[in-house]
Amino acid sequence: MRTVGTVPGMRILISGAGIGGLALAQALRRGGLEVAVYERDPSPQTRRQGYRIHIDHDGNEALRACLPPEVLDLAHRTSGDTGDRIAFYTQDLVELSSQVFPDIPASEITNVDRDTFRQSLLTGLDVSFGHTVTGYDLTPSGRVRVALSTSPPTTSPTPSTDGTAASVGRPAFSASSPTSTAASPASVVGGTSSSPGGPASSAGGTASSVGVTASSAGGTASSDGGDGSSGDGSSGGGSFFDEGDLLVGADGVGSAVRRQLAPSATLRDLGLRCLYGRMPLDGATLPPDFGRGFSWVAGANGYGAGFAPVRFRTPAGVPDYLMTTLVAPTGVLGNLDLPSEALQQICLDASATWHPAVRHLFAAADPTSFFPIAIRAGTRITPWSSGQVTLLGDAIHTMPPAGGVGANTALQDAALLAAEILSGKPLPEAVAAYESVMLPRGFDTIDKSIRMIGRMVPQPGARP
Ligand SMILES: Cc1cc2nc3c(=O)[nH]c(=O)nc-3n(C[C@H](O)[C@H](O)[C@H](O)COP(=O)(O)OP(=O)(O)OC[C@H]3O[C@@H](n4cnc5c(N)ncnc54)[C@H](O)[C@@H]3O)c2cc1C
Repeated sequence: MRTVGTVPGMRILISGAGIGGLALAQALRRGGLEVAVYERDPSPQTRRQGYRIHIDHDGNEALRACLPPEVLDLAHRTSGDTGDRIAFYTQDLVELSSQVFPDIPASEITNVDRDTFRQSLLTGLDVSFGHTVTGYDLTPSGRVRVALSTSPPTTSPTPSTDGTAASVGRPAFSASSPTSTAASPASVVGGTSSSPGGPASSAGGTASSVGVTASSAGGTASSDGGDGSSGDGSSGGGSFFDEGDLLVGADGVGSAVRRQLAPSATLRDLGLRCLYGRMPLDGATLPPDFGRGFSWVAGANGYGAGFAPVRFRTPAGVPDYLMTTLVAPTGVLGNLDLPSEALQQICLDASATWHPAVRHLFAAADPTSFFPIAIRAGTRITPWSSGQVTLLGDAIHTMPPAGGVGANTALQDAALLAAEILSGKPLPEAVAAYESVMLPRGFDTIDKSIRMIGRMVPQPGARP
């Protein structure tokens, strides 16, 4: 049995197989720990959370720290060609400012397609898809017991910046209404790491032995990796428990773990809405330099638009594309609970008086690719007492997408938490050390991101 710090055979439970949760799982597994990852989505392909993600220098460092070489290599090979330019334009395509980054080494990742990247991060991990974390409790022996459901939650989806809730017109997240806690019914239906929605993806890797062992209602969890002999949770759903030394809530903007650990946490609606789409790059003509990185067009009519390409270094099964975004105050965009084609039409109407080459980017986009998101941000909170449960990424410091730092910050959290856990410190000290950096950094980054939005997007209330 391994001994890490003062905790022999440490077992870490992760709620959420998004960017931060998967990077953490990779790092801990690489460090020899037993990890169980639970993901609400039935399969890796379920989400509609955006297309291109900009990875910055901090994100690259975190990836190097977390990922085994073969996974890092896969993430790099399936990333986009190096982007080296950020530019700002008027609606008539007059360049206002630009910055070129000529020295980015080819080994650095500058942009990824979210789904392709997630597939890379899944390599070698055995994630339990279709398993929703609903709450937790602390055991008398000082461990943490997480409650899971294999059925989707029946409550309304939390409106979010993560694109998982289709409607953006719902009321803001209320942190004071936990869906359930570990006091849930105790029927044991789990016990394996299989996925009810299909096999856990392991993009080229073999499934590891990060098995999931559900505990019984009595809380006598085994931590031996589980052999899957007690059922797979796929025969009709239910609730069950798992037990570990630490629970990490990496479950994004609507985090169930945060609701219980930090019930005073709230999300602020920034009063902006965003429409994402994508245009196939195959043979497309772009305005000059729009293929080199991120280009922002500031309309004089209350709208702004961003464009950025993903040209895969090696074919990843997804055609090269240009991500398109239209951003405006909520009141300007109005109801967005509309089919994709209608959202595309909003983009065309908004850019009707702009330079035709810009409007063309919306016109040539895939009409089925458009979806709306609400732009929200986490609000700074007083730290909780460190213990057997912690949070990571958007689960605690939800980032607005503008600024392109949310994923990078989640990756930094993963790298730091893994380093602290693997440092040999007693676990409570390791978690406290992580939180003392993660919390101020996360909220400072939100502040910077919001300031950047203020420079890019017209003030709420502007009219076309
Ligand atoms: C459209 C868009 C564009 C963006 N562009 C960028 C960019 O260019 N650069 C950048 O750095 N950031 C960007 N961001 C922000 C970035 O996507 C997030 O900050 C980042 O994904 C956060 O990672 P995470 O691991 O914390 O959460 P997520 O990646 O959101 O993962 C959370 C996971 O937890 C799962 N989950 C939720 N609840 C439960 C539960 N109860 N039980 C089990 N699983 C659960 C979810 O299904 C999800 O898979 C963008 C965001 C959006 C919406």
